[in-house]
Amino acid sequence: MRVRDAQFVGAAPTWAALPPPGAPEVAFAGRSNVGKSSLLNALLGRKQLARTSGTPGKTQALNFYAVNPAPDRGGAGGVKEPELYLVDLPGYGYAKVSQGQRAAWQRLVGRYVTERAEPAPDHPAPLRAVVQLIDSRHGVTKMDEELMAVMLESPAPHLVALTKADKLSANARQKAVAGIHKHLRPYGLELPVVLTSAEKKTGIDELWSWIWRVM
Ligand code: GDP
Repeated sequence: MRVRDAQFVGAAPTWAALPPPGAPEVAFAGRSNVGKSSLLNALLGRKQLARTSGTPGKTQALNFYAVNPAPDRGGAGGVKEPELYLVDLPGYGYAKVSQGQRAAWQRLVGRYVTERAEPAPDHPAPLRAVVQLIDSRHGVTKMDEELMAVMLESPAPHLVALTKADKLSANARQKAVAGIHKHLRPYGLELPVVLTSAEKKTGIDELWSWIWRVM
């Protein structure tokens, strides 16, 4: 499967605003400035589709991007599910956000990654995987760790994408990967770790292979 087309389909600031369960979803989370929009654009093959920082309405909402949206055939009751949604979970680590807003956002994201990953009698679980982005230069920060605790509540498979790998030497890249594994070992966690660079398009195919595999 490959990305033929991608579209921003909407931002859900609350649980009630989420689209009804349909196509599989893969969620992306990371603190602001980690390179999430850039990586999403690289995955979607678009330059400016995802641009969350500083975009009103997008920073405190779950943003849905449809991959290979079905053509609008019109007609009554016509189902127009894409093949997949990439879901951007922003709003983490913005200094301007109040304590209360931050807590509300964490609750929403926590609920999304758990409840949305549970199948219901009438449909399979929409959320199939969670990708956590960590800056390859900085290792796991306190904020990454907090976010990871929320993400790991999800029963969906979890992958760590190290961003901005082009800024590191080959040696430092390998150290960054080893650093993540070392960090996770005491928790008994063995997560896949992929080195990525939105700038050089590194790791994009590898990330897609993993996504298609777990879907
Ligand atoms: P977001 O806040 O997580 O969505 O981060 P952005 O995608 O907006 O990126 C934050 C900053 O990091 C921007 O200045 C980007 O140009 C830069 N950046 C993002 N990805 C890469 C990358 O792969 N390599 C390099 N060198 N810089 C990157």
